[in-house]
Amino acid sequence: MTKKGRVFSGIRPTGRAHLGNYLGAIKNYVRLQDDYDCVYCIVDIHALTTVEDTVNLRMNTFEVALDLLAAGIRPEETILFIQSHVPQVMELHTLLSMVTPLGKLTDLPTFKDMVRQHPNNVNYGLVGYPVLMAADIVLYKSDFVPVGIDQAPHIEFTREVVRSFNYRYNCSVLIEAGMKNTEIPKVLGIDGREKMSKSLDNHIELALTPEQTRQRVMMMVTDPQRIRRNDPGNPDVCNVFSMHKVFTPQADVDMVNVECRRAGIGCVDCKKLFAENLNKSLEPLRARRIELAARPDQVYAVLADGANRARVIAESTMQEVRAAVQLP
Ligand code: SF4
Repeated sequence: MTKKGRVFSGIRPTGRAHLGNYLGAIKNYVRLQDDYDCVYCIVDIHALTTVEDTVNLRMNTFEVALDLLAAGIRPEETILFIQSHVPQVMELHTLLSMVTPLGKLTDLPTFKDMVRQHPNNVNYGLVGYPVLMAADIVLYKSDFVPVGIDQAPHIEFTREVVRSFNYRYNCSVLIEAGMKNTEIPKVLGIDGREKMSKSLDNHIELALTPEQTRQRVMMMVTDPQRIRRNDPGNPDVCNVFSMHKVFTPQADVDMVNVECRRAGIGCVDCKKLFAENLNKSLEPLRARRIELAARPDQVYAVLADGANRARVIAESTMQEVRAAVQLP
């Protein structure tokens, strides 16, 4: 089947994925493979801008690869690789940095957020983060980048860099990637308040055992107004119910929706039901993950093959870029 173009996305090597990563990105990555040529890159260089201690970087990169492959990334068609294995991206980053005004980078809201989050580590790489991201996208001549609406400014920035480069060197070597707007659901953590994240320890990892999953689910905050078992609840404000809607068969979702409101079901039973459905739904992914984890050589071979294929595209782009810049 002819695909509709090339999609690129970078994934930070943050270790084992959680439900927020899965529902917010990974499921979409898997789906996109049906219609697009996909290039998925585990961005280890990006991670260095904020990670000072790299002792877990290799392991975290491997864990991300495991989750992606277990979730259904098909490496025979999709290019899955580690960013630093294609060094051309660093070269392109340097060249793009020459056409990017510094003020533009320091004005970006994302840079200001990063400075707030990492006040003691405002490094040069952090300022250039969006330029490296632009290099990632344009190096592979990507047609689309799947992003949530909040990330749209990043893609617009990339498009501006492309225009500046093509204008400066009077060429049309780099192409402007379009946005593939994706509905990225905001998955709340088990605290029911903040977005699910590892740093807040409010997450549920995909790779937990069923029993560990149950324990995390039982910690989930429910409707805060429902104090006693006999109090009627309101599923519309309950994070457990939002998750039921994703993982529980519709008949049970409807049952919870009715029974919660008239205190016919208690939160403990409701969470047990959710944990059961969540475990059932993640069972195939977990089985594949265990299989892959037992054969790390095979996973590294997939990443090496992905890097080889990515390097071919990258080198071809760089030959055009070097010629356009008239590097001697
Ligand atoms: S019964 Fe379920 S949906 Fe209702 S408040 Fe409790 S956990 Fe939430």
